[in-house]
Amino acid sequence: MQPRRPTRQITLGDARVGFVKIGGGLPDRNGNPTTPAPVSVQTMTAGYTHDIATCVREINKLHAAGAEIVRVAVPEKKDTEALKHILPQVRVPIVADVHFHFQRALEAVESGVHKIRLNPGNIQDRAQVIEVIKACKSRNLPIRVGVNEGSIIERRDKQKRMKELGAVFSDQKHGHLLAIMIAKLEEYLDIFYEQDFYDISISAKSMDAAIVVDAYTEISKRFDHPLHLGVTHAGPKETGTIRSVAALGGLLINGVGDTIRISYANDPIYEVQDGLELLYALGLKTRVGVDLIACPTCGRIQVDLFTLIQDVRKSLAEKITVPMKVAVMGCIVNGPGEAEGADVAVFAGDRRGIIYVQGERVANVPEPEILPRLLKECLDFQTKVQRGEAKLGEKKVEIIPPDPLGELGSGYAKIASATPLTVRGS
Ligand code: SF4
Repeated sequence: MQPRRPTRQITLGDARVGFVKIGGGLPDRNGNPTTPAPVSVQTMTAGYTHDIATCVREINKLHAAGAEIVRVAVPEKKDTEALKHILPQVRVPIVADVHFHFQRALEAVESGVHKIRLNPGNIQDRAQVIEVIKACKSRNLPIRVGVNEGSIIERRDKQKRMKELGAVFSDQKHGHLLAIMIAKLEEYLDIFYEQDFYDISISAKSMDAAIVVDAYTEISKRFDHPLHLGVTHAGPKETGTIRSVAALGGLLINGVGDTIRISYANDPIYEVQDGLELLYALGLKTRVGVDLIACPTCGRIQVDLFTLIQDVRKSLAEKITVPMKVAVMGCIVNGPGEAEGADVAVFAGDRRGIIYVQGERVANVPEPEILPRLLKECLDFQTKVQRGEAKLGEKKVEIIPPDPLGELGSGYAKIASATPLTVRGS
């Protein structure tokens, strides 16, 4: 992991919903030092903002799932009007996503929103942009300038501009696009700088993960504003997750990126979950709840491990709040190793499972009892951690693997049996 790129920190929120800082590392406007804020996870509501009750419900659901910032679309005046009623009912900073109509930005500011997103591709009039900047400045609101690939390319002169600007990045595969994005950003941000406005974050999204990586990498070298990372129009969840994680993971590993949105065509609650998981995986965020380690299964399993893993995941997600490592392993091959590194672990054998807490064997139970016993051990361990009687990540004893042909019967029964084992859910 490369160190985070230093940026000018921005802050959004208020005393009621709390404040979220984005970026940091460069001195603030008064010359005081700042440290980079943890990378935050944000998402966007999928419903209509003017449907106040539904919008409030969705924002609160996303916030409860871990979203630290929530963006809403405000295409019509009834949406910015609705913000006045929505904001008092939520406890997370809200960003108004503005396209085409600069008035929506002014109305959203009036309604008390915490940040505005502008698209240079569709709000270009200098006087209008200045009005929005002034409104935000008067209330200390930051603005995100989002140059989506799809909306900034003026399609009539695309070929001409590609030729003119492509030379700047001729050594890069997507040089012409990067040149357009950066030229557009420079031109747009000059308006902000002329107004002495620096509470800015930048995004430069594309549906192409490689363009996203190149665009943000180039932008990070040229601008010192925090970066909002995202892959836009990433497709359905199944492919969109991979597309987003490939691009965002690569950038974050290189220290680029201050807030992220994973986006795809599905319930945004999954975007929040995947965004958090990405940050947990990279060690950029402290995990809340269980870190579940599970084997992918192979021809050695002799219990219904897929079902067990899902049952354990769902049950622990509801009940465990401490960042406990739990391993659910299929057999003795990798079970002891993973169990040793976990706080609570089970590894299975012939329709049985041996359960360990902090490396200490606590039970050897038949398959139907694995789930309830594992849950009990996790809950007991959590209570001990909360009371200060046990420490996460502390191993008490070395695990001595059981005899594979004896105690667990792992492998033996399968080899000896004439009837192939049928596994539920396989
Ligand atoms: S732990 Fe055992 S069952 Fe699971 S993948 Fe590894 S070898 Fe296969």
